[in-house]
Amino acid sequence: MKRGLPPQHQDFSAWYNDIVYQADLADLSPVRGSMVIRPYGYALWENIQAALDKMFKATGHQNLYFPMLIPMSFFEREKKHVEGFSPELAVVTHAGGKELEEPLAIRPTSETIIGEMYSKWVQSYRDLPLLYNQWCNVVRWELRTRPFLRTTEFLWQEGHTAHATAEEAMAETLQMVDVYAEFAERYAAIPAVKGEKTAGERFAGALRTYTIEAMMRDTKALQSGTSHYLGENFARAFNITFNDVNNQQAYAHTTSWGLSTRIIGAIIMAHGDDKGLILPPKLAPYQVVIVPIYRRDDTEAQQRVLGAVSALAEEFHSAGVRVKIDNRDQSPGWKFNEWELKGVPIRLELGPKDLAAGQAVIANRLQAGKETVPLAGVVTLIGQRLTQFHHDLYARALAFRETHSAVVKDYPSFQRQVEMGWAYVTHCGEPACEAAIQEDTKATPRCIPFEGPAAESGCVRCGKVSGYPRQVIFAKAY
Ligand SMILES: [Zn+2]
Repeated sequence: MKRGLPPQHQDFSAWYNDIVYQADLADLSPVRGSMVIRPYGYALWENIQAALDKMFKATGHQNLYFPMLIPMSFFEREKKHVEGFSPELAVVTHAGGKELEEPLAIRPTSETIIGEMYSKWVQSYRDLPLLYNQWCNVVRWELRTRPFLRTTEFLWQEGHTAHATAEEAMAETLQMVDVYAEFAERYAAIPAVKGEKTAGERFAGALRTYTIEAMMRDTKALQSGTSHYLGENFARAFNITFNDVNNQQAYAHTTSWGLSTRIIGAIIMAHGDDKGLILPPKLAPYQVVIVPIYRRDDTEAQQRVLGAVSALAEEFHSAGVRVKIDNRDQSPGWKFNEWELKGVPIRLELGPKDLAAGQAVIANRLQAGKETVPLAGVVTLIGQRLTQFHHDLYARALAFRETHSAVVKDYPSFQRQVEMGWAYVTHCGEPACEAAIQEDTKATPRCIPFEGPAAESGCVRCGKVSGYPRQVIFAKAY
């Protein structure tokens, strides 16, 4: 296998593709546009899932599961939804050797089939709210695909809730964008900007879409999780009605929210460097890798080192640290490169001389050089280093974003800024003006951030009055 990556600044896109395959995160599948997630990538996903699942449950949600096949007619019931998703639908027309009476779509998202069932489950205000989530795969027939960022089949979670009032549903929608931002910060070490999408970027069928946006190390934006207030749109399409406290019939207000394996792309591109991945410790499949060092012909030293290494690994296990012993028949240098490429936060090396001196050598993926530390108390020390690693990684990403974001006031400065990062600008909010900006610069409105500078007098491109209370972030995006 080829080892070594092209430098990020030379070809970020090639760097990204190479790292996905060389770090054993994923592989190409025989079906164009879909990918195989390999054990190292899947372990990362499992850690993401576990953290989010805990957060969903702590906010009162339960998991359930819906089938992946959805009657085509369901999509026709919500006009904007069908317009939005038709071009991406994969449809089953034949099964059991016969043509089906009604074709079945493979879910691109499940609002429709869930709406159908919610109409059966909701009769009275006493049945509300429904706070459900499912972990599943979806299929969207994308033309241009890239591993984790855009694939025809991907893994995600989709939350679907139904509420008695608009206020409750809006509170849920905003709560979930907070949950995503908190996950990004506390687990992925990614500073995310929370905000609302402009009308042109809304989910098909939603009244409001909220997003978390993160800056990648090529300064492009990546939408990393979205939460939608659907109003009564799906309740009307699927007849989700209930008798309210006054015994009047009313439509439920629904929400949906999702985060996908795309977040793995965000982790790769928000943190990685020329040597490879840098994984946030709370999500890394291995937080510590131990490389035992000995000469293969010295069996006595080998036994001593391996004995000490497995005792140490036991201690890490007991302390709740994910640890891996790399005792493969490869040179230490080869292993160091491999674990740097795979982004393991801390590497610990232990040889016979270290053992005799009661010390170990540790290397931190965020720092150059190595450090010799006493073996006694090394597990506690590394626990502290992992906590520090998370903070340093977050601070590094935040500093990068701040350095590459600027408020700009005129169109020439705007055009320069979106070549170097994110631009905060006053915008009129008109779709035609958004389209003209995209045509000129390839930048799109990422969101109207919840917190940020207030809008000023005129739109950066057309001079018309601002469409929003605050300035809009424009950037090139994945
Ligand atoms: Zn404008």
